[in-house]
Amino acid sequence: MSSDISFLEQVNLMFDKAARFTDHTGGLLRQIKMCNSVYAMEFPLQRDNGEIETIQAWRAEHSQHKLPTKGGIRYASNVNEDEVRALATLMTYKCAIVDVPFGGAKGGIKISTREYSANELQKITRRYAYELTRKNFIGPGIDVPAPDYGTSGREMAWILDTYNSLTTEPLNALACVTGKPVGQGGIRGRTEATGRGVYIGIREACGYKEDMDKLGLTPGLKGKTVIIQGLGNVGYFAAKFLEEGGCTIVGIGEYEGAIYSKDGFKLEDVVNHRKETGSIMGFPGAENIESSKDILEYQCDILVPAALEGQITEHNADRVKAKIIAEGANGPTTSEADKILLGKGCLILPDVYLNAGGVTVSYFEWLRNLSHVRFGRMNRRFEQSSASNILSAVEKLTGRNFTEGDRSSVAIGATEVDLVNSGLEETMINAYVEIRAIAIAKDTDLRTAAFFNAIDKVAKSYAEMGIWP
Ligand code: NAD
Repeated sequence: MSSDISFLEQVNLMFDKAARFTDHTGGLLRQIKMCNSVYAMEFPLQRDNGEIETIQAWRAEHSQHKLPTKGGIRYASNVNEDEVRALATLMTYKCAIVDVPFGGAKGGIKISTREYSANELQKITRRYAYELTRKNFIGPGIDVPAPDYGTSGREMAWILDTYNSLTTEPLNALACVTGKPVGQGGIRGRTEATGRGVYIGIREACGYKEDMDKLGLTPGLKGKTVIIQGLGNVGYFAAKFLEEGGCTIVGIGEYEGAIYSKDGFKLEDVVNHRKETGSIMGFPGAENIESSKDILEYQCDILVPAALEGQITEHNADRVKAKIIAEGANGPTTSEADKILLGKGCLILPDVYLNAGGVTVSYFEWLRNLSHVRFGRMNRRFEQSSASNILSAVEKLTGRNFTEGDRSSVAIGATEVDLVNSGLEETMINAYVEIRAIAIAKDTDLRTAAFFNAIDKVAKSYAEMGIWP
């Protein structure tokens, strides 16, 4: 991180700020804060050219107050133990905020994916999964990884296959990892879940007229301008749903540079341009910004950092022009920057809430794997024919017929993805209502309110276990 304070210290400072609003004892607060276990490993990789290289990796399990623990696996050249601990810590609070019954965990492998072939990445992933299995750091009831920065369904499928080949309990083995491809026990809607959750959270926040009035913005998404940093899984889907919801994308930052156009551009046009040219730069009609990070300081209503941590710091926060900072990434705002932005009256939608859509749908995937049945399989046809019978009865009573269009939009049964999206929406809205109410009651910001909520829920769970009277 660019700040002198480590990522974990940043997270703990945010915890301490919220803890002051609670009346829990110092001992309990320390217990909630500490990271339970970390497995640090090094293993050899024989590269395609025959050379041997040593790979460094970690898995941190922050809290086992609920099991399994859960959190993504990150592949990045700057991953380190502090970062993995910080991300695992955030996962505990995130799960509590959205009522997902898991403890927090996170994994990291110190590699830049661009420098390794698919064959090498497979070898690294399988060895990592082997290490986790051997040390009991993975399992449906122990610790369940998922995708994060630099990983996707492909890596999750390799992990599942490796775990499957080693486990002596194959019945529930599919639930050892989430974010899998649908054909490998994944769930429809997981790939886009984090970005969709980011969109729902922003839409919810923008729906409160009194909150928008304070920012000098109109309520609703329509016409709001957006800058996205990072066009990966989270950033791409957040941008896609925000655009569909009526926002205009005016800026995009990627590792190769950034583009800006005050009149906006169509997301898919930029994506196609990047596919054709290998870069977002040079997009017709847009300004090229060589130093990618500068895009954070351009004019927009909503800034969505969706790449890495430590992007908005004390060095650039006062130049950020966005009124709403919507944290798609984990830890994009340092605690010093947080103070500066709040001082300027910005609304910060914190990572621990806003990017919780991924873990929420991962929870649904885990449930689906344990129940061995696709959601909607038992009830879809039944719902469809019940609704159709009601429409027929209404037709009989009124003597008027519905059009085919009316019928097909009303007489439907929910598919798996309908149910997943509905569960995600319910979760994101409920969690926002909760943290907003706390923020108002305590006269504080949303991040502090979210941490307060997490601390209280984890504390309650310890009390229920009888550990802390
Ligand atoms: P990803 O690997 O799919 O995408 C990250 C994108 O950021 C890539 O396109 C990469 O090229 C780009 N990038 C890298 N360096 C950049 C830079 N300096 N400036 C601008 N862009 C840069 O990763 P992701 O899964 O989208 O994760 C992004 C963030 O969201 C991370 O902080 C991650 O922890 C968080 N997150 C992800 C999920 C999930 O479900 N994937 C869930 C919760 C939180």
